[in-house]
Amino acid sequence: MFETKEINSLELNPVFGKMFENSHKNIVYCFDKSTGLKAIIAIHDTTLGPAIGGVRMWNYRSEADALDDVLRLSRGMTYKAAITGLNFGGGKAVIIGDSNKGKSEALMRRFGKFVNNMSGEFIAAQDVGTNLRDMEYIRMETNHVAGISEAVGGTGHTGPVSAYGVYMGMKASAKEQWGNDSLSNKSVAVQGIGNVGEHLVKYLREEGARVYISDLDEDRLTHVARKHDAIIVPNNQIYDLDVDIYAPCALGATVNSDTLKRLKCSIVAGSANNQLEDEELHGQMLMDMGILYAPDFLINAGGLISVYAELSGAGKKRAMQLTEDIYKVTQDIFRMSKKEQITPHKAALKIAEKRIEDIRQLKANS
Ligand code: NAD
Repeated sequence: MFETKEINSLELNPVFGKMFENSHKNIVYCFDKSTGLKAIIAIHDTTLGPAIGGVRMWNYRSEADALDDVLRLSRGMTYKAAITGLNFGGGKAVIIGDSNKGKSEALMRRFGKFVNNMSGEFIAAQDVGTNLRDMEYIRMETNHVAGISEAVGGTGHTGPVSAYGVYMGMKASAKEQWGNDSLSNKSVAVQGIGNVGEHLVKYLREEGARVYISDLDEDRLTHVARKHDAIIVPNNQIYDLDVDIYAPCALGATVNSDTLKRLKCSIVAGSANNQLEDEELHGQMLMDMGILYAPDFLINAGGLISVYAELSGAGKKRAMQLTEDIYKVTQDIFRMSKKEQITPHKAALKIAEKRIEDIRQLKANS
């Protein structure tokens, strides 16, 4: 028997080395010449249950970038499921390519076959660059897919539920920072107004917040600005706004050493995964600057909860109830962060890791 502690990460090749770093369980490379499919599925941990995760289609600059992304995102899924009390493990898939040009039924179905080969260890769901139709294609090849449309028995788009969770996390943050959870008359900068961002804008505007929006997609910006009476700002100015809350709802790593010099907000709370470029460094910098950070993997868990409701048959109403609990869990995290003088991100990780360890022990002893 090999002892894990005897494995020296420096002796391993780059992929094994990266798996070693955060104890990933499995990585599957999927390639198909005829459809042009190039995908990576990463399984981080399955202690709590089968690994579930979105399928992201993105035009990565390199395979190395795609690997880094899938490893980080799958780890985030483990903690997201753990902290929300769901019995899922963490996984993620990335398809390398432009989702506007490179998608086809054949490509998605070929990907579905790879998912099927994993015999339920991975359950695929929607993410950036994939939609309900894609999930239907995947479902033609495997049952291990969730987040399908209501017309075929699913709970449909996860975006609205995710947005509700972010809104709950934001309100809990407001309560912590200002002693009152009202967002009326607060100003919020929402970066990325896609599936989640747009619904977040809706909740915020309904409560009377002043909302600034940015996106790469000009048509979408005009549409959302008109529909919800939001204010468009150029992409490169979103970090410089004098606002109360910054809500990253596009891609990750937007809280970094550069943007931290520019941010003037009191709260960071958004849906994007892996918002902190460096969890330790930038989490601590936020804390030192007095900016309250609502851990991303907690407040964006609504989508996962929605998928859970679909798989368990619990339904949409239950998904919204469970998502509402994000408010209370966010408060618990802030309490622990204060008590133990650690960043909210660390506090959230600690709670998630403890649950995984407790269940690991429980399983080992039964
Ligand atoms: P989406 O693809 O529908 O929307 C993302 C939007 O961000 C797009 O409109 C895109 O044009 C825009 N964008 C990309 N780069 C940008 C940039 N640099 N500046 C401004 N805008 C930019 O995705 P989504 O489903 O709304 O998810 C948004 C984020 O939330 C992603 O990071 C995703 O992983 C995360 N998330 C989503 C869900 C969900 O249920 N959909 C759940 C949890 C986490």
